[in-house]
Amino acid sequence: MSHRPSTSPYVFQVRDIVRSPGAHRSVSESFPAPQALGTDIVGVPSGAAVELDASLESVSDGIWVSGSVRAQAIGECGRCLDEVRLDVDAAVQGLFAEEPVGSGEDEEEPEDVFEFDGENLDLEDVVRDAVVTALPFTPLCRPDCPGLCDQCGARLADDPDHAHEVIDPRWSALQSLTEQKES
Ligand SMILES: [Zn+2]
Ligand SMILES: [Zn+2]
Repeated sequence: MSHRPSTSPYVFQVRDIVRSPGAHRSVSESFPAPQALGTDIVGVPSGAAVELDASLESVSDGIWVSGSVRAQAIGECGRCLDEVRLDVDAAVQGLFAEEPVGSGEDEEEPEDVFEFDGENLDLEDVVRDAVVTALPFTPLCRPDCPGLCDQCGARLADDPDHAHEVIDPRWSALQSLTEQKES
């Protein structure tokens, strides 16, 4: 594994193709995520399998990375709090430049540009960005999840006809008046 000088599975050595526009290499790796990718609500947990397929292409500004990442995210349904597992298949792309690109004063930081030392590409940030962007803001166990009963917290999916006797507040006021009179 001469291309893997670092302990991070996201790091790829590109010394042989850097500064040779047109040269490229494909990477196809499957490894356990060293760190969780995502948020507390939904994300790819640390240790879960991450599959990365990408092409590393030498261009005049650095190395252009494009490809895809696949993993399974685990989250909590935003309505019923059940565990949700979803397959993430996200496009990965970014330019790795040895020099900051567009460092002019009023230019905004260009998106998808990462710096590298000319030898090792660390794809962790570009993979993290791709995965986080692909995750739903509020995961649902199914699109029509009915959620929980707001009275007792029961799962409405298990008991669709679930209902409580609800006494109209006006009736209950009347009821307590009658009770007062009687006593
Ligand atoms: Zn649900
Ligand atoms: Zn209930």
